Amino acid sequence: MLEKMEAIFDPEKVIEEFEAMTKDAGRVQKETLRKILELNGKTEYLQKWGLDGKTDPVSFARCVPLVSHDDLEPYIRRIVEGDVSPILTRNPIKTISLSSGTTQGKPKFIPFNDELVESTMQIFTTSYAFRSRLFPLQNGKALQFIYGSKQFQTQGGLAAGTATTNVFRSPQFHKTMKAIHAQCCSPDEVIFGPDFHQSLYCHLLCGLINRFDVQLVSSTFAHSIVHAFKTFEQVWEEICADIRDGVLTSRVTDPTIRTAISKLLKPNPELASLIHDTCSGLSNWYGLIPALFPNAKYIYGIMTGSMELYVNKLRHYAAELPLLSADYGSSEGWIGANVNPDLPPESATFAVLPNIGYFEFIPLKDVSDFLSSEPKPVGMTEVNVGEEYEIIVTNFAGMYRYRLGDVVKVMGFHNATPELQFVCRRNLLLNINIDKNTEKDLQLSVQAAAKLLAAEKLEVVDFTSHVDLSTEPGHYVIFWEISGEASAEVMKECCNCLDKSFVDAGYMGSRKVKTIGPLELRVLRRGTFHEILDHFIQMGGALSQFKTPRCVSSKNNKVVQILCNNIVKSYFSTAYD
Ligand code: AMP
Repeated sequence: MLEKMEAIFDPEKVIEEFEAMTKDAGRVQKETLRKILELNGKTEYLQKWGLDGKTDPVSFARCVPLVSHDDLEPYIRRIVEGDVSPILTRNPIKTISLSSGTTQGKPKFIPFNDELVESTMQIFTTSYAFRSRLFPLQNGKALQFIYGSKQFQTQGGLAAGTATTNVFRSPQFHKTMKAIHAQCCSPDEVIFGPDFHQSLYCHLLCGLINRFDVQLVSSTFAHSIVHAFKTFEQVWEEICADIRDGVLTSRVTDPTIRTAISKLLKPNPELASLIHDTCSGLSNWYGLIPALFPNAKYIYGIMTGSMELYVNKLRHYAAELPLLSADYGSSEGWIGANVNPDLPPESATFAVLPNIGYFEFIPLKDVSDFLSSEPKPVGMTEVNVGEEYEIIVTNFAGMYRYRLGDVVKVMGFHNATPELQFVCRRNLLLNINIDKNTEKDLQLSVQAAAKLLAAEKLEVVDFTSHVDLSTEPGHYVIFWEISGEASAEVMKECCNCLDKSFVDAGYMGSRKVKTIGPLELRVLRRGTFHEILDHFIQMGGALSQFKTPRCVSSKNNKVVQILCNNIVKSYFSTAYD
């Protein structure tokens, strides 16, 4: 099917199939579960739970337990070590994905197979089809800030890399990108270069060489797009010089990248001075992206969840150019596509694709359900609009009733399939005693306090948090990197505002009776979060997949150390004095 896609890809046909499938979402879900269990019922893992050939949802839920990555880890470890017996899937797993593991500091190993590639392409083409109704693309190119991390061999001889790298390496990826007019304007040598600083520089350069063909600027996550244009602010004159002289800067040392770029880069003084004039004419880089790429139709990447922080900065670079938020998935598997591209990133939703997995939802009506040991999930078509759930995934890649760790909210239905909004990671819980604050609570609190900074024309560049139990009583620590220097008075106000904005009753009560100490705001040196990013890359992560950890546990020694080495100043809240 995919081989033919280039020639026959028809967005309207994709939409037609999606509409038919989502109208019948309940039946498609049962059918998908049946297919998964028929294919993999004889695996060691499923045999253990005594399904005995049953493939219906009730037997499945009765026999197979809800699990987290820790429960599957011993099985995955054997696969990683080279055991090719049918452990989790009938067909042997030949590739392993490394999830970002930004919170605990350790990447997780996850099985990767052809079915995952297939569902990735289905997600990409589905959301593209809906986007193309609003913003049709012609034959052109995409400036895609994508990076393949280093792939290595596990001790059992399996190829291991981040999920995005595994996807970028698949032949289907190139075919699909061509079919949906999102072919990357950089050569593979740049995407898979050994050093992401050099790759990023060359992505920018290739984009500018092709500036009139670029119809789309994208990356997996919004963070990488913002990071790319912040870098551009530093290197633009060097890029102009390269284009003028047709010679790549000596800062790019990798020979394979140099050879690939030398084929594309010819002296072009006219283009160089055009870019130079364009950049010189901008005020504070506002509207940089459409100024550089006048034919770009939109900017595309995940802008929800922990990426929301970067949307303001992206809007600044984008001016009037639309920001379209991308789909929802994880290294373990995809969940939903953004089929409402007209919604602003802040309210983006994801329609679940009922044939890529079997999905269950644990209702989270009140926060204590988070910690319940016996959650009772409901089926995909039984969820209620307006309610929040933890999502459970079963798919063709060896995940059975797998707790992904995400909280989602049902915003409505597309035909019979739910449209989800990403709320937060479930396990990010700032918690000292009876208080419970999620990633979303943290984000809201930071947003509220950032407004005080905005009044001073400053912004929060990035943030994270930590629970400090080294002193009695324990207290929350929020780390901020900000875009300039604020007065001590403003920072004290921000600190108080952060503290007051955690409105969870447990927190407020504990603060009042002083069983939780004053919140501490630690201001970091500029560039601290770049240092954390560099550390993540050194650990084998890929920039495309980087998400700033919003809470750093004490186990994540190295990141804690980076944070602590970079504190410029710290403030304690007086909000409850
Ligand atoms: P990884 O496995 O490292 O790719 O991370 C997957 C996680 O990223 C998911 O479980 C979510 O927490 C988050 N994520 C993925 N897609 C989105 C999205 N569209 N919006 C918000 N968060 C997302």
